[in-house]
Amino acid sequence: MSNLDERPEEIVCSEGAPGGIEILPPREVPLGGPRAMLVRRTLPQRHRSLIGAWCFVDHYGPDDVADSGGMSVAPHPHTGLQTVSWLFTGEIRHRDSVGTEAMVRPGEVNLMTGGRGISHSEVSTPETTVLHGAQLWVALPEASRDAPPAFEHHVPEPVQGEGWEARVFLGSLLGSTSPVTTHTPLLGAEILLEAGTTMRIDVDPSFEHGLLLDTGTVSLAGHDVKPGELAHAGTGADCLDLTAYDDARLLLLGGPPFGESIVMWWNFVGRTHEEIVDFRQQWQDQITDGDTVVDDGQKVAAGRFGIVVNEPLRPIPAPALPNARLKERR
Ligand code: MN
Repeated sequence: MSNLDERPEEIVCSEGAPGGIEILPPREVPLGGPRAMLVRRTLPQRHRSLIGAWCFVDHYGPDDVADSGGMSVAPHPHTGLQTVSWLFTGEIRHRDSVGTEAMVRPGEVNLMTGGRGISHSEVSTPETTVLHGAQLWVALPEASRDAPPAFEHHVPEPVQGEGWEARVFLGSLLGSTSPVTTHTPLLGAEILLEAGTTMRIDVDPSFEHGLLLDTGTVSLAGHDVKPGELAHAGTGADCLDLTAYDDARLLLLGGPPFGESIVMWWNFVGRTHEEIVDFRQQWQDQITDGDTVVDDGQKVAAGRFGIVVNEPLRPIPAPALPNARLKERR
């Protein structure tokens, strides 16, 4: 990292520059487990629940696994969302109830579609000494939130320019398109910038964007962004101007405003309080009955959430529901 003596000139997008950049600061949340790895959560926030269909942004590390114990997340359920795992350093073993066993590695996207219901576990591998990455969720629209659960893996080919390199893991940007399935128009990309680089990125004006800065210092449309912050740019811009003051790494997320109200609680995305209560009960029933359900008097190994293959860790019980009704957010 090196600071520049002179700040490079900033150029402003000539058309449709975003009306405003909003900086969303992170809050620290323990991920769970005995030694509780801390994550920096920038979405949802009290006053902003979604950026496009992106509904959850956790950023963690660099985390010394010798201190934190790394990641050990036992089987837990999801509904109504896709999880997007992106690592900068380390390796995580993913197992799920559709039978997937896959490694999450830097530069490779793992996308899990929860749809009507899935369960999975995530454990950092013994070889991992430093863990650093992001865990992102995408809300599924009404038309596909009951889709069958699925898993996809993709290694984007890097695209390069003067002082920058990008990996587009969802959607299209900078002439690169990801083949990974999305259910609403969506963008997800990692961008590396060398100190002093100024970059104008053409974007879809119907998209709003979120820039999560991992390292370095950048400005987005003239607004400085610090590591850990998520900068939100509204719709209406046909380009985004980025300037890096130091070597920088960031994730650029985007999509058209989601336009549906959702209810998010624990690992579920639904539409009503009653639906979430039902999802929670189905998970509890499934795990307290030894991961089996009774069908026609026969015990069969399948509930809404299925069973994580080859996973010795015991499923995580759902926390208690709050006393108040869960509120819809949009
Ligand atoms: Mn999960």
